[in-house]
Amino acid sequence: MLVKTILNRVQKFKSFVYGNVKWIDTGEKPELDIELLARANSKAICSVCCQKASGYDRLPERRFEFIPMWGIKVYFRYAPRRVNCRHCGIHVEQLPWCKGKRRLTESYAWFLSGWAKRLSWKEVAEAFHTTWDHVFCSVEMAVNWGKENRDLTGIKAIGVDEIQWQRGHKYLTLVYQIDTDCRRLLWVGQNRTVKTLLKFFMWFGKARSDQLQHICSDMWKPYLKVIKKKAVNALHILDRFHIVAYLSKGIDKVRAEEVKSLQEKGLEPVLTQSRWLLLKKPENLNEKQAGKLAELVQYNLKTIRSYLLKEEFQQFWQYTSPYWAEQFLDKWCTKTMRSKIAPMKKVARMLKRHKPLLMNWFKAKGQFSSGIVEGFNNKAKLTTRKAYGFRTYYAAEIALYHTLGALPVPETTHKFF
Ligand SMILES: [Zn+2]
Repeated sequence: MLVKTILNRVQKFKSFVYGNVKWIDTGEKPELDIELLARANSKAICSVCCQKASGYDRLPERRFEFIPMWGIKVYFRYAPRRVNCRHCGIHVEQLPWCKGKRRLTESYAWFLSGWAKRLSWKEVAEAFHTTWDHVFCSVEMAVNWGKENRDLTGIKAIGVDEIQWQRGHKYLTLVYQIDTDCRRLLWVGQNRTVKTLLKFFMWFGKARSDQLQHICSDMWKPYLKVIKKKAVNALHILDRFHIVAYLSKGIDKVRAEEVKSLQEKGLEPVLTQSRWLLLKKPENLNEKQAGKLAELVQYNLKTIRSYLLKEEFQQFWQYTSPYWAEQFLDKWCTKTMRSKIAPMKKVARMLKRHKPLLMNWFKAKGQFSSGIVEGFNNKAKLTTRKAYGFRTYYAAEIALYHTLGALPVPETTHKFF
């Protein structure tokens, strides 16, 4: 079977035919050089208006990298024609295997971007002996195509979340669709200000915003403000995951302070290795850890009391009656306010302040479990942290859309990936 026969099966172009296939020994790595020719009598297509146009001249030959085969690099070789278009003037013809001045064929770019969903960009570059830039451009192409071709109809529920980006206090705002039948990243923006979320709603549009039925977010003030103004028909739910996170942060703070004061007093540092113990769900502790926790509970430490407050709060979500849930919340807040533990009091004050929003959880009947936003949050952090080798915001944004956006890919006759 000839290489040409295989190519005609997997990658056929309407107005072009494959010519000579040459084996090039470059010393280090062999290459396959495949000539492409315009079909006789076929007219070139203007790359601006996409219509047939009469020929003008021919440019020097260019090489376009195709998908490697058996560890052999594969190139298409073609001398593009220029057309004299009636509407647009003199332009290079449109090529079905490659857009603009790119050096990679579209098939190869889709191939690389497919692998970039499974491996880091660096790993993809290494595996296929290509550069990081080529992988990046391929993913960028896939993301742009996917964003242009995705379906944004019927979005009823969204979640607004933030992640820390790089070191220091830099944030990204992420908006997810969290409907049961479709969960994906919809939008990424820099910072977590009023302006950031306004940008999302501007892009999303009024008609779609009016159709929203549920929005989950945390208690971050700028978000609350914008959501109230822009999603007028939606029930706003405070995310369970974020509330648990606030409680955990409270414990962390109490613990750090207490470790310090115990050390100053020269007492045995009972708390030094207990951090994960206290943040884990009790049912996830192994026997040894449960033992240590039981031992810790004996000391009447602030840390332990905070831990017990947090555990007690879990009961809030179990209620089916909003009335009893509210009673519970009030009691819990009073108890916490009397605990004299400042970081926990801070959380209680915050929960009290946002009670109406907190109670919306029961109106939504627990439809939006903490797992959805939490799962996305973890994946998003992993995506930005993983050694993709990007330092710019733009590259991180592209990576997030690529891994979490559930973006569509074009239909092709042959699947290279
Ligand atoms: Zn034209």
